[in-house]
Amino acid sequence: MTPTLADARRWLDDPALFERARRVRDDAWGATLTYSPKVFLPITNLCRNRCDYCSYRRSPGEPGERTMARDEVDAELSRAEAAGCKEALLCLGDKPEKAFSSYRRTLEGFGHAGTVSYLVELCERALARGLLPHTNAGILTRDDMRALRRVNASLGLMLESASPRLCEPGMPHHKAPDKRPQVRLAMLAEAGRLKIPFTTGILIGIGETMDERIEALLAIRALHEEHGHIQEVIVQSFRARPGIVMDRAPEPSDHDLAATVALARLLLPPDVSVQAPPNLSPEGTSLLISAGLNDWGGISPVTPDFINHLHPWPVVSQLRATCEAAGFALAPRLCVYPGHMARREFVDPSLDAPIARAARELCA
Ligand code: SF4
Repeated sequence: MTPTLADARRWLDDPALFERARRVRDDAWGATLTYSPKVFLPITNLCRNRCDYCSYRRSPGEPGERTMARDEVDAELSRAEAAGCKEALLCLGDKPEKAFSSYRRTLEGFGHAGTVSYLVELCERALARGLLPHTNAGILTRDDMRALRRVNASLGLMLESASPRLCEPGMPHHKAPDKRPQVRLAMLAEAGRLKIPFTTGILIGIGETMDERIEALLAIRALHEEHGHIQEVIVQSFRARPGIVMDRAPEPSDHDLAATVALARLLLPPDVSVQAPPNLSPEGTSLLISAGLNDWGGISPVTPDFINHLHPWPVVSQLRATCEAAGFALAPRLCVYPGHMARREFVDPSLDAPIARAARELCA
């Protein structure tokens, strides 16, 4: 039976919330927690939006503005291959080519008329080195996603929130047209119709209420029930840092994050992986395990978290020790989950060989 807002409120008040979520996690995912060894490629930090919590975006000419050329990408891919990474995360700001003529000229200099064709080339370069691409390029059209599907094992777009209230004046998404929930939900649905294994998630601590978190998780559940494509849901905490509009906003506590992870575990179908980034809650990893988390997301041995650059990745051996102390093994995984790999309609045939190779090397 599909859970409701009232169910979620009741679970939140129940002292057995974590225990209930653990039971669901243990039944569905067993005694192994996972992570994806990845390289983080910030292809461009130009973005037409201005989210109040973002320290990633730049405008043309701003210090730190960066668009990676193919030789820079190649160099990072080489390091990643040598370090045993299996995922190439390609990350971009939203619609830079619509907003900035200088970026359009940069793309022309690379020999591409648009971002997506450049991304396709970079993904092919990653595949040639045994890395499976996972691209998060913000809002994409159906044609964009069809092009990227051939060269990406999975795609990603954080829903962040399903609340239009966060787009009102004075709220963090007011200057971010691509953060309108209906725009994001429409893209997530389109990805489902295209049968793309998909990663999404919510961002907590940006001014939303607990009911709004629940509504976002229920919206993701509804998408998965209709299309079956949501492979994982990230529960990510806002982190304050100097230079952003929300530099003094309070951060969610580790317990708040863990309670939301537990709720996500109960609100989402059991086959959807529930993930929280360990670098954003280094003191809260044991609590997250006890709240029903089954995955830590991407961890890079070669590149920082460019979105949260003040928060270094954990050392995998230390994370493994934490998992083992809680009675779990820690294992690397690919950026497409076994459940979607096994369903032919979710994997483009051209990716069969690269996925098989990456899976083989992961187990070697
Ligand atoms: S969070 Fe994403 S969409 Fe918002 S300003 Fe930053 S890069 Fe752009």
